[in-house]
Amino acid sequence: MKKTDPQTSLPVSEIFSSLQGEGPFIGHPSVFLRLGGCVEPYCPWCDTRYALEEMDDVPVLEVLERILSYPCRRVVVTGGEPFLSWENGLSELHRQLTERKYEIQYETSGKIRIPLPTDAVVVCSPKFIEGAWRFMKANVGAVHYFKFLACGSDWPEVIEGFVTEHGIDREKVYIMPLGATRQEQLDGMEAVFSFCVEKGYRMSPRLHILTYDRRRGI
Ligand code: SF4
Repeated sequence: MKKTDPQTSLPVSEIFSSLQGEGPFIGHPSVFLRLGGCVEPYCPWCDTRYALEEMDDVPVLEVLERILSYPCRRVVVTGGEPFLSWENGLSELHRQLTERKYEIQYETSGKIRIPLPTDAVVVCSPKFIEGAWRFMKANVGAVHYFKFLACGSDWPEVIEGFVTEHGIDREKVYIMPLGATRQEQLDGMEAVFSFCVEKGYRMSPRLHILTYDRRRGI
């Protein structure tokens, strides 16, 4: 892996310790590193829009120190779109964390190339915006799990279309209700539940929203 200067800065939106709220590692204690910036077109339903606007440039070594200050040895790198920073500091942070035997999970939309860090888990949440999937087909093989939000009135057909087109194993697919509030989550759960039973997908709630509603940094 290419080394970058550890003094390179990452666009940090927030760092906090919590439980993974959704997807294959739901409930796992994790340190979250949210990097700022995303790839257009932005999602109209984006629930982390602050990550597109509020960020500080923090040197990689300082980010590392802040992660190491938590007892948890599992890191979720999310965004925004974290892989925008891969060549500009994130690959160096990845190297430093893997040297220390940390487990790393990346959360990406797959709108840009995934750089295949084979010693990390990549969870991709493809976005269907203005009638089209904003996903690079070449990324399929780099993704360990897919997460889909049940978004828009035709989400069952839209998600089925993506899974079929890309030949994705249903065991790799998690479907979650759309919604940034507890009530929206509850309102969307029944439809997702019955769809997953019918089609053989996995369902994921969004535990952080169900527990804390709109609270940020959790
Ligand atoms: S990809 Fe994620 S961070 Fe970017 S606009 Fe969509 S929901 Fe927001």
